[in-house]
Amino acid sequence: MSVTIQQVEYIKKAKIESISTIKTKGYIKGVFYPKNQKELIVTYTYLIKNKLPHILIGNGSNLLFSKKSKKIIGISTKRMKKRIFTKKNILYANAPTTLTQCFKICLENNLSGFEELATIPGTIGGAIKVNAGCFNKNIFSIIEEIKIFKNGKIETITKNNINYEYRKTNLKNCLILSAKFKLQYSNKKLILDKYKECLLIRSQKQPQGFSVGSVFKNPIDYGLSAGYLIESCNLKGYKYKKAQISNKHANFIINNGNATFKQVQHLIKLCKKRVKKNFNIDLECEIEIV
Ligand SMILES: Cc1cc2nc3c(=O)[nH]c(=O)nc-3n(C[C@H](O)[C@H](O)[C@H](O)COP(=O)(O)OP(=O)(O)OC[C@H]3O[C@@H](n4cnc5c(N)ncnc54)[C@H](O)[C@@H]3O)c2cc1C
Repeated sequence: MSVTIQQVEYIKKAKIESISTIKTKGYIKGVFYPKNQKELIVTYTYLIKNKLPHILIGNGSNLLFSKKSKKIIGISTKRMKKRIFTKKNILYANAPTTLTQCFKICLENNLSGFEELATIPGTIGGAIKVNAGCFNKNIFSIIEEIKIFKNGKIETITKNNINYEYRKTNLKNCLILSAKFKLQYSNKKLILDKYKECLLIRSQKQPQGFSVGSVFKNPIDYGLSAGYLIESCNLKGYKYKKAQISNKHANFIINNGNATFKQVQHLIKLCKKRVKKNFNIDLECEIEIV
């Protein structure tokens, strides 16, 4: 049965706090909530055909919405049905599946590969788009191939045909639909222990609270972390109204309640300015400003 755009759930003037983990104040023009792949493709095609500015949203854990979002329409994959299954040591997952859900099914099947990545609060779609990673592992290290929707067609692309580097891919102007991962058989206890170890390290080093994770990429050419550089500029814990550079990890900006985009942006600019002045290094945002 064919699906029309009128059938897709749409929320007009949606609150940013419902679509971004930093939960800043304000509104986006509207958000479509497709329930399945058909609805997702219909929505995406409709927005492109009508030249309506739009943004795909997974868990919104890497997205900071600016004033411009009042003119942008979101397509959130959050309410889509998750499809996830294994065949031997291969895992298939669709875009809205979270990394933690992937880990859980891997654990049930004694498969290793998602222990580190599962501690990132993102979906498969978002994680692939930005090549998410942690603990010296990135999502492309376990990907075999992905399915995308581009120029009106569904296509499968193998990993060799995708350009990816540190927190960056060439997957532009497309919908990521699903992915196939190749994993290693292992021992359930080892898999679980590794995951718990990663969670513990995160809880020791990174703050709780509303954020979009690391704000800046680590300037790898200099072999230094963005957190170290910001801390060295004495900005750790610095507050601007309701936004704060975390006092636990200087590369995180926390919304202490009702922070606005402008307040967060003020801190981003301040970090960039000080790091440039003190180290002559240009910090590049890891988060995406919409
Ligand atoms: C507490 C915390 C810790 C974090 N730690 C890490 C970390 O260790 N490592 C790391 O890499 N990141 C980290 N992040 C950032 C973030 O979680 C990752 O970038 C994550 O992969 C984003 O996934 P998402 O589903 O939230 O994507 P979103 O933030 O919703 O979107 C990210 C990008 O993907 C696009 N997108 C989303 N879905 C699709 C789709 N189906 N098709 C095409 N494009 C799509 C969006 O348009 C956007 O460009 C952290 C964030 C938080 C809040």
